[in-house]
Amino acid sequence: MSGTYLGMPAFPEAAHEAVRNDTLRANLRHATHTIRDKRAVAVAELDDWTELREAGKQIKEHTLSRLDHYLVQLEESVTAAGGTVHWAADAEEANRIVADLVKATGEGDTEKREVVKVKSMATQEIGLNEALEAEGIAAYETDLAELIVQLGEDRPSHILVPAIHRNRGEIRDIFRSEMEKWGRAAPENLTDSPAELAEAARLHLREKFLRAEVGISGANFMVAETGTMVVVESEGNGRMCLTLPETLISVVGIEKIVPTWRDLEVFLQTLPRSSTAERMNPYTSMWTGTTDADGPKAFHLVLLDNGRTDTLADEVGRQALRCIRCSACLNVCPVYERAGGHAYGSVYPGPIGAILTPQLRGTASEIDASLPYASSLCGACYDVCPVAIDIPEVLVHLREKVAEQGGPGHRLEKAAIKAAGWVLDHPAVLAAGERVAAKTRRLHPKKLPGPGASQWTDSRDLPEMPAEPFRDWWKKNRT
Ligand code: SF4
Repeated sequence: MSGTYLGMPAFPEAAHEAVRNDTLRANLRHATHTIRDKRAVAVAELDDWTELREAGKQIKEHTLSRLDHYLVQLEESVTAAGGTVHWAADAEEANRIVADLVKATGEGDTEKREVVKVKSMATQEIGLNEALEAEGIAAYETDLAELIVQLGEDRPSHILVPAIHRNRGEIRDIFRSEMEKWGRAAPENLTDSPAELAEAARLHLREKFLRAEVGISGANFMVAETGTMVVVESEGNGRMCLTLPETLISVVGIEKIVPTWRDLEVFLQTLPRSSTAERMNPYTSMWTGTTDADGPKAFHLVLLDNGRTDTLADEVGRQALRCIRCSACLNVCPVYERAGGHAYGSVYPGPIGAILTPQLRGTASEIDASLPYASSLCGACYDVCPVAIDIPEVLVHLREKVAEQGGPGHRLEKAAIKAAGWVLDHPAVLAAGERVAAKTRRLHPKKLPGPGASQWTDSRDLPEMPAEPFRDWWKKNRT
């Protein structure tokens, strides 16, 4: 099974480790720069990109503002099309529902206790694979990158390219040593050529597709008016999962809804260009309930909340729910490029992870409280976001919340700001202080004292105090 994020250290500590890994940094730099350059070209081809971006934002805003209405409409549409809708308030409930559904199809036959999965961030968010494993059900990832992550007992580090931190040589080694433990072994003379690696994965997965009774997916979009699910992927493995098994279970966050098919038109243009820099997505699978003599005979939709309604209640933070998981913000982020995805301690890494995870999970833990600070606020993420999420605005908003939450460092900061406020309110005191500071400038320390402040000056020089305060200079030269 893939590793989990449980027990991860806070971002600064994890990032400190990651930046020392030269291979990781080289892999990330090469991959993110390649994708970001291609994306820029793909986006520049469209004259109406700005309008599409605004339309995507407006559609999502509108849908979120009437989410209760559209969810009920979706439930009615899915049910009318032959599917069954389940509501899950949190990860535990969602996992329980899925495990029970899988067991119900197996009828006690242990041979059937396995499922194939198309890449799904929602199921990673709730730790579904681990929950199924605890029930004796093996979940096989079938997206190539997810397969690499699973075989390597690793964790995803990128939204779109979960194994972005691995190079071809590492992938060959994982396939050679691990594939045989899960099913068909890799060829003995496997090299690191992409074609050979893809063929090894294809043969390994094929037997799983043909045997599986249950497929599990997420969805990129859900269309309320018809109850249609949409999965956007590049390999075709997803389509095998969605069509071959007898039972299909889709676990989808409630924010993935769009009202109409017409709305999809916008996202099916902006998503591929933002994510893989393609004009059109290679495999876009859509299904509506069940169809006689074609595809799965049973379809279950598990609608997942898991912190989303709390996020929706926050007027600034709710824009994070507009995200269509294109990963463009990761590929331009200087912090992500150096720290890598694992440092974010969540299935959602990079700038979007820094605003989504603390809202879905809250900021009680050290790692979640550290995430809003995992940014230089340069704004590159906002510029590329196809639904115009103002990530820096949400980061600052969440920092305020974390600061209000308290802690000794924050109490000290508050006291210092209060003292500074008083001094700034008393110009005579400020002027006297400036003169004393200028006269004693040679005695000033080069580093700040205390654990928090000294960390700040470990990597920065304290600005030197001028020999003459500005107000004295002004009096002499300008009045
Ligand atoms: S926040 Fe915007 S840029 Fe980042 S993954 Fe989501 S939609 Fe893409």
